[in-house]
Amino acid sequence: MADNLLTVRNLVVEYGTGQHAFRAVDDVSLTVPRGGTLAIVGESGCGKSTIAKALVRLIKPTSGSVDLDGTDLATLSERELRPQRHRVQMVFQDPFGSLDPHLTAHQIVAEPIAVRGEKSKKVQRDKAAALIDRVGLPSSALSRKPPEFSGGQRQRIGIARALASEPELLVCDEATSALDVSVQAQVLDLLAELQRENGLTYLFISHNLGVVRAISQDCVVMRAGKIVEAGRTQDLLSRPHEEYTQRLRRSALEPGLMTGIKPRHLIRHIAASRAAESEKSA
Ligand code: ADP
Ligand code: MG
Repeated sequence: MADNLLTVRNLVVEYGTGQHAFRAVDDVSLTVPRGGTLAIVGESGCGKSTIAKALVRLIKPTSGSVDLDGTDLATLSERELRPQRHRVQMVFQDPFGSLDPHLTAHQIVAEPIAVRGEKSKKVQRDKAAALIDRVGLPSSALSRKPPEFSGGQRQRIGIARALASEPELLVCDEATSALDVSVQAQVLDLLAELQRENGLTYLFISHNLGVVRAISQDCVVMRAGKIVEAGRTQDLLSRPHEEYTQRLRRSALEPGLMTGIKPRHLIRHIAASRAAESEKSA
């Protein structure tokens, strides 16, 4: 039997109540193997971010279960949830809106370390510095604030902040979508390295099939709140069965129809940045 870190069963999320309730996620079930990456793809508005928010309990699911290694996060009370929260962390799409512009990178990354119970300011500072270094930023970044960083640098800070909570599952919601192609490839590479080093498990949400192909082994395709296809990413993207998946694939290949970049361009960038890395380390 596969060793799944996350098992979502029959997840339903509704916005509003009664007659005005809108079912954004409708009976979604999925599993993410420990140390692996599952991608969720689908066009805008199909419910991807709603799933992400339900997993980190920014919203409470209407029904269904979210089993993280034996604990159902969907049904816990706020009080019961508190010691569990660090286990699932999110990296958001918007590198501009998701970090407090008034705090330094050090404060942003040290805060979850303090929340985890680390009282020593020195240890907090050292751990934050190690994380900033690990995500590829210079130590001078520690004293700077988000408005002074580029989009890619901000996403690195967002990743460092997420890691500071020592999560088991990282939910990346369009985490590279706002970035230029080459920066996108660098951040994807960083995420892949961090996964190899720390055995992290990823749920990777994207409307971009090139990104999905680069980062995930398994993939589910969503449409209007439901999963319409699921399987190995390679198989799904090379031989999609559903008309909808074919359409997603076609629109990803035709610029303009879908925001984002052509998969072959992204793959070329990733290959180039890997080659540059291995030259550096040779
Ligand atoms: P995606 O991330 O795939 O673009 P979302 O999960 O953001 O989709 O949204 C799914 C659906 O739920 C959309 O129709 C959206 O308009 C709706 N929705 C999202 N957030 C809210 C909200 N806070 N209140 C009401 N409807 C919402
Ligand atoms: Mg979204």
